[in-house]
Parts: sequence; C-alpha cells; structure tokens
Amino acid sequence: MEQYKVMEAFYSIQGEGYHTGKPAFFIRLAGCNVGCSWCDVKESWEADHGKLYTVVKLVDLVTKSKANLVVVTGGEPTLYNLEPLTAALQQQNIKTHLETAGTNPLTGTWDWICLSPKKFKQPLQANLALAHELKIVVVNASDFAWGEQQAAAVSAECCLYLQPEWSKANKMMEAIYTYVKDFPKWRISLQTHKFMNVP
Ligand code: SF4
Repeated sequence: MEQYKVMEAFYSIQGEGYHTGKPAFFIRLAGCNVGCSWCDVKESWEADHGKLYTVVKLVDLVTKSKANLVVVTGGEPTLYNLEPLTAALQQQNIKTHLETAGTNPLTGTWDWICLSPKKFKQPLQANLALAHELKIVVVNASDFAWGEQQAAAVSAECCLYLQPEWSKANKMMEAIYTYVKDFPKWRISLQTHKFMNVP
C-alpha cells in the first residue's frame, strides 16, 4: 500500500491563487528538490522529517473534517506517486488540487493544478501545459520577464497570477499592481491566510 511522508495534515483555508477563501484540507508532503532561498517551509525539505501515513489514514483524516477539497502541497509533492491518494480522495467525492513547482513528471488525477515555477530549477514543459493556474512569486523586478517566459508555455485557459513574496511584499507591491495594470492578462494573488493569521 502506498505510503507518504507527511509534514502536516490540517483543515484550513486556501489563502492564495484562484481558489482563495475556500476551506481546504492541506496535506503537506515531506521532501523538496527545489530549494528556494525564501522558502517558508524549509523544514519540509528533508523527506526524513515526515511521518509515514497510509492513503487510508489520510483519507480518514480528510473525511472526518468537513473538507470537500484537498490541497496536496510540499515540499515538492511530485516526488511521490500521487495516483493512489488522488484516486482514493476522488472516490469520496473530494476535489484534488496540486501545488507544485513542476520539476518532476506529474502523477495522480487532479481537479486543479497550480504550478508555481522556480527560477533555480525550471519546470518540465509538459507540466506547464497541464497547469490550470500559473503562480509566479515575485521577489524582484526580473521576475516579471521570467514570468512571461513561463506564461508563454501554459495553455490559453490557464489563469495567470503574480504573487509578492511575503517578506518582500511591501517592496514589490507597487511594481506588481503597476505591471498588472499594464498587462491585464495577469491577476494578483496575495497570501491572505497570513494576513488573517489563519492557522
Ligand atoms: S519549491 Fe516550495 S517547498 Fe520547495 S523550496 Fe521552493 S517554496 Fe520551499
């Protein structure tokens, strides 16, 4: 039976991107092969830091909450085979959402794929084409041009978001809203769960 190393599993609110404001059960898997300097979940980088959970246990936790949507995140969740988990969740009529940097081939069946590519480890082109949502974390001005390169590889239906990196948010805010006004295919994503101190 498939097992996953889990950093944390909790019912909360999706604070950012297209599904902002929706209650969601988060499964944060351990292990990341990307290594962003500004990562706010660095403790999840080592897979050994996670606790082993079976699919049955995870689905049990989700169904005992009131969640109708699960966000699988990390770390980098695509380091795992996610087919057994997503199949079991969908059998319970739970929507499956993925948050990934897209550096590994995707597994699993997803109702929504949010791809947040990182400069230091480029996403696979095939994954960009599958994304429902492209989220570019803006740390400095060069991220706009890089974000446009990524946007050129997604589907026409993919929603495009620029999101200030939390610790630099004040510094980049004006540049972001000015950019979105100039290039209105983009929308702004904010980490509202941090603003609201959602646990
Ligand atoms: S991809 Fe995500 S988990 Fe991995 S280092 Fe970057 S922000 Fe952190």
